[in-house]
Amino acid sequence: MAAISVSGKDRVFVLTGAGISAESGLPTFRASDGLWAGHRIEDVCTPEAWQRNPWRVWEFYSGRRADGAKAEPNPAHFALAELEAKLGERFFLCTQNVDDLHERAGSVRLVHMHGELAKSRCENECGRAPVEDRTIYTSLDEVGRCACGGLLRPHIVFFGEIPLEMDRIQEEIGKATLMVVVGTSGSVYPAANFVHWARLGGARTVYVGPEAPLNAAAFTHVVEGKAGEVLLGLFQVG
Ligand code: NAD
Repeated sequence: MAAISVSGKDRVFVLTGAGISAESGLPTFRASDGLWAGHRIEDVCTPEAWQRNPWRVWEFYSGRRADGAKAEPNPAHFALAELEAKLGERFFLCTQNVDDLHERAGSVRLVHMHGELAKSRCENECGRAPVEDRTIYTSLDEVGRCACGGLLRPHIVFFGEIPLEMDRIQEEIGKATLMVVVGTSGSVYPAANFVHWARLGGARTVYVGPEAPLNAAAFTHVVEGKAGEVLLGLFQVG
C-alpha cells in the first residue's frame, strides 16, 4: 500500500496489541483458542482467579516477566518511536500490552491501559501507588505485602476490571486526526471501540496486522502484513 501521509496539522493516536510484540517472541493472546502462553484466562487473569489462588496468578505472571526480560523490541516498536520523535506532542501511544518493549524502543508519550508487568500493587486498592517489581517469584511466601497489610498483586488489569488512564485516552482520541491500530484482534473492550470513537471525530483510521481484525469495517484502511515489516516506511511525514 502507498505510504500514509502525516501532515503538519495531523495528531496521531496509536493503539497497539499483543501482535506488535509477536515478532519479539512474545505469544499473542488469541494465538491458540483464547489461551495465553498455554493458560486459560479464567485461571490466571481474573479477580476470581486471584481470590481463589493468588499463587497460580503470580506463577503465571512470573513466567511472563521471565519471557519479557528475554525479549527485545522489534522494528515495529522502533518505527513507532521514530514517528514520535518526528511528531513530538502530536503523537500519543496507548498499548494494551503489559510488556515494556515500547519504552525500551524509545517511546515516551505512552500509557499502558492494561497495566505493566514490571510493577506490583496492593490487592486492597488502598491508594498507594504501584511499585517497580521485576521479581520472578518461585513461591507465594516470597511475595511482599503493602504497608496496609494487603498482599502485592501484579499491576495488571484483570479481565472484568476497568482499564487505566481512560480519561486521558478519551481526550487524546478526541484530538486525533489519524488513528493507527496495530496487532490487536478487536475482541477486547473498550479498546475495540477506540476506532469508532475516532471515526465519530472524523479521523482517518488505519489497521496494521497479518489478518483483518473483528472490527475491520470501522477502518478506512486495513494494511495486511506483519507489523515489523509494514510499519517502517508506512508514514510519510510532511
Ligand atoms: P490478541 O491476541 O487478541 O490478538 C493479537 C492480534 O495480533 C491478532 O489479530 C493477530 O492477527 C495479530 N498479529 C499476530 N502477529 C502479528 C504481527 N507480526 N504483526 C501485527 N499483528 C500481528 O491480542 P489483543 O487484541 O492485544 O488482546 C489480548 C490481551 O491480552 C491484551 O489486552 C493484553 O493485555 C494481553 N496480552 C499482552 C501481551 C504482551 O504484553 N506482549 C501478550 C499477550 C496478551
